[in-house]
Amino acid sequence: MEFDVVIGLETHVQLRTKSKVFTYSSTAFGDDPNSNVDPITLGLPGALPLVNEQVITYAIMLGLATRSEIRRYSRFARKHYFYPDLPKGYQISQYDEPILEHGSLTLKSGRSIGITRIHIEEDAGKNIHDLGSRSSLIDLNRAGVPLLEVVSEPEITSAEEASDYLRSLRRLVRYLGISDGNMEEGSLRADVNISLKPKGSSKLGIRNEIKNVNSFRYVEQAIASEISRQREIYLSGGTIYQETRLFDANSGTTRVLRGKEDAADYRYMTDPDLMPVVITEAMIEEQKRSLPDLPDACEEWLTDLGLSTYDVAQLTEEKAFYYYFKDAYAQSQNAKLTANWILSELFAVLKNDNLDIADSPIDAKRLGELVALIDQKVISGKIAKNLFEMMIKGEKSSPKELVKKLGLEVITDESQLREICSRIVNDNLDQVKTYLSGRDRVFGFFVGGVMKETKGKADPNLVNDLLLSEIGKVKDRLEGPE
Ligand code: ADP
Ligand code: MG
Repeated sequence: MEFDVVIGLETHVQLRTKSKVFTYSSTAFGDDPNSNVDPITLGLPGALPLVNEQVITYAIMLGLATRSEIRRYSRFARKHYFYPDLPKGYQISQYDEPILEHGSLTLKSGRSIGITRIHIEEDAGKNIHDLGSRSSLIDLNRAGVPLLEVVSEPEITSAEEASDYLRSLRRLVRYLGISDGNMEEGSLRADVNISLKPKGSSKLGIRNEIKNVNSFRYVEQAIASEISRQREIYLSGGTIYQETRLFDANSGTTRVLRGKEDAADYRYMTDPDLMPVVITEAMIEEQKRSLPDLPDACEEWLTDLGLSTYDVAQLTEEKAFYYYFKDAYAQSQNAKLTANWILSELFAVLKNDNLDIADSPIDAKRLGELVALIDQKVISGKIAKNLFEMMIKGEKSSPKELVKKLGLEVITDESQLREICSRIVNDNLDQVKTYLSGRDRVFGFFVGGVMKETKGKADPNLVNDLLLSEIGKVKDRLEGPE
């Protein structure tokens, strides 16, 4: 029996704000435990929350970027459950009136996945079970850190596509600058819902939910393992129960955490401490105006410039790569050559020296100028490499200045080059004979000679033509009438 795989993701995106979503404490990661707390974080009686305006702004930005409907009037709800990392006894979230609905996310594959809703909520604290000998510890620094929960439609069809979805979402929130999308630090965490159904059937099967998977690789492993577990149960005539499961990275498998609770279990109610959120047209217009270039638009522009899918994917991976390219291209006007220099030469150096592109020893403008000099045949590729090395090592002048200062322009003067070519050919008649006997590789010997004499500055195409012509003359002489 064949099955279709159905996956829906609930992704928590931690927002990059200075203070928490309903209070003033810092959101900094890695501070001393329980140093970023206050009466609201601790859930002390009488402490009243107030929404952080930056969170609303970020939500509007993500709404625009996912083509979501932005609700003009939305409300916060209390989601009740008891857990030691949640001192109030409820989490402030949104329920039937989320700030965003009916959006979509374009994957790197080009497919578009529906987004059911995106809502604002607060993070919980952290329980630490492996430090104290007989006690568990609680750190409430993370309690109240703002999250946007992005809930996808059950439209994802494989582990690879789930990974593509998460990578695309991560890239989008990083382009927007609303989250650092760092999975290791938990800024992006996914709950993965999976079910199987008979191939082609339109009725969805019973889903299982795998909680808080925190790396792309784990997401793929967790899904693969859950698919095969469910398949075996179906094939042996068993029943799938709706459960919340945990992924165990050591075994690469999932195990049951608890039976799945239903919405009713949470006793959702509107939070009476918080005002409804009202969003005006003016607020939306303001965000529309200041929205940065988004990944899909960047991809489209690069593709229109004639770059390959691979180059486009590399150059849009980070917003900073894209802008670097854009600035370099503004100088060079040669997309392919600019992409090559960034992706092979520059990235190799950055990787080797463990540098961010923002700290590149060569800024985009100078790289673009270097490429322009090659494109306009002012310098050869080889000279360009030398200049590139000099700039990497700290040379601050522009490539144009360097070319002038060092006299590196390509020699295109035909009579000057013909004189050199003719001399090198006639000084090496043995090599000419070897070449004429069919050993084509000897040609490199002549090119090398010319380049040595011109310090690599001779126009290579012209040198080729001239050498062939000079060798031809020698050949005629050797084979000429007795
Ligand atoms: P809950 O918070 O109870 O898990 P939500 O409605 O917030 O419920 O999220 C449900 C998630 O599960 C969504 O991402 C949705 O696409 C996905 N989902 C729903 N039904 C199925 C199913 N049968 N198979 C796989 N995923 C599903
Ligand atoms: Mg869920």
